[in-house]
Amino acid sequence: MVDAHRTFVIVGGGLAGAKAAETLRSEGFTGRVILICDEREHPYERPPLSKGYLIGNEARDSVFVHEPSWYAQAKIELHLGQPAVHLDRAAKSVRLGDGTSVHYDRLLLATGAEPRRLDVPGTDLAGVHHLRRLAHAERLRGVLASLGRDNGHLVIAGAGWIGLEVAAAARSYGAEVTVVESEPTPLHTVLGPELGALFTDLHREHGVRFHFGSRLTEIVGQDGLVLAVRTDDGEEHPAHDVLAAIGAAPRTSLAEAAGLTLIDPAYGGGIAVDAALRTSDPDIFAAGDVAAAEHPLLDSRLRVEHWANALNSGPAAARAMLGQEVSYDRVPYFFSDQYDVGLEYSGYAPPGSYDQVVCRGDVSKREFIAFWLKEGRLLAGMNVNVWDVTDPIQQLIRAGARPDPEALADPGVPLASLLA
Ligand SMILES: Cc1cc2nc3c(=O)[nH]c(=O)nc-3n(C[C@H](O)[C@H](O)[C@H](O)COP(=O)(O)OP(=O)(O)OC[C@H]3O[C@@H](n4cnc5c(N)ncnc54)[C@H](O)[C@@H]3O)c2cc1C
Repeated sequence: MVDAHRTFVIVGGGLAGAKAAETLRSEGFTGRVILICDEREHPYERPPLSKGYLIGNEARDSVFVHEPSWYAQAKIELHLGQPAVHLDRAAKSVRLGDGTSVHYDRLLLATGAEPRRLDVPGTDLAGVHHLRRLAHAERLRGVLASLGRDNGHLVIAGAGWIGLEVAAAARSYGAEVTVVESEPTPLHTVLGPELGALFTDLHREHGVRFHFGSRLTEIVGQDGLVLAVRTDDGEEHPAHDVLAAIGAAPRTSLAEAAGLTLIDPAYGGGIAVDAALRTSDPDIFAAGDVAAAEHPLLDSRLRVEHWANALNSGPAAARAMLGQEVSYDRVPYFFSDQYDVGLEYSGYAPPGSYDQVVCRGDVSKREFIAFWLKEGRLLAGMNVNVWDVTDPIQQLIRAGARPDPEALADPGVPLASLLA
């Protein structure tokens, strides 16, 4: 069938979905492109929601992927504020919340992820927050500002990236901040104990209190308001507001009900896709946070919940939908900003996968690069307040380099020279 008579539907209007729509057009697709999203906002990027926008440095308008007028110009049919509620693979149609259905020739699921909820008494109190959507960030901005004004306490459950970034934002408003984390350091499951400790020091210097090795057991409230939180070691901490920052779960319900192959949550969850981002149905693809893809470079299946993956996997899926040969093998990458510390991380080296950490530069000044290795092979690198090194780090990882640890630690040795 010629393109002009085909309809490609994208469910999910986050970065992956919006970039996929853009790529369909830039690759010359002339058929219908329909983008369905349950949020009323035009597609936007989420990183500013816990950083510049939350702190008040970035304007609301700056978060959007495209100007609203772009969608009409590119002939992208938008269904905003409309959940896709049912996927009928036999009829090749998607039913929307308003009862209407759209037919697809090819479908992309870019449904992202949603915050995990705390499973403790008090979770429904008005002062308990999550952070995923623009509306959440808008509300949280107001909460942080008033906590700052009134010397109020924010308790954050979870010392992952979002928890730490919000801790930094809250301190910039002057709020009192306590972070409760079950692991012994922040970011333990991403960076391991060696580098996690760096973030303990950074945040303590800025006045954040940590409560490690414990979990929230109750949010204590009165008349709908939060008064305190209790932890499983029997302690009580004052709180006026609570942020649950305990991770996100992929939004797989549509795919699951349609019988697509999913990955067990114990292995990261998500919709199973091959390296071309194709699901177990040859006409359905998945990209972004929801996709658990076979990664040709890492030789394993991976679900990546980061901005760069949404940015790149959406377009890769669009090309695969057009019938192009696609092997999505980007080196995983993410970034974070907290206070005056900016960092980029490339690769994949969770605790247990590496046996050596090498640092180059001045760790005490927080200007360095950390490298994670396994039996001499470079798995991952994180540059902290050191810039323009992502390309050589990713080249080394991609090449399966086994650099001499002394040379790796020596800032005088150009990283590119370690490729040999
Ligand atoms: C606060 C915050 C800060 C972050 N900061 C960073 C950072 O600094 N660096 C970094 O690398 N990454 C960061 N991330 C992660 C990054 O934003 C995500 O990886 C990215 O948003 C994933 O994009 P996506 O398009 O796959 O999914 P999403 O952005 O989640 O978009 C999916 C969209 O689909 C919609 N949807 C879901 N189901 C349906 C349905 N059935 N029908 C219709 N619509 C549906 C959702 O409502 C949503 O709008 C951050 C995330 C958050 C929440």
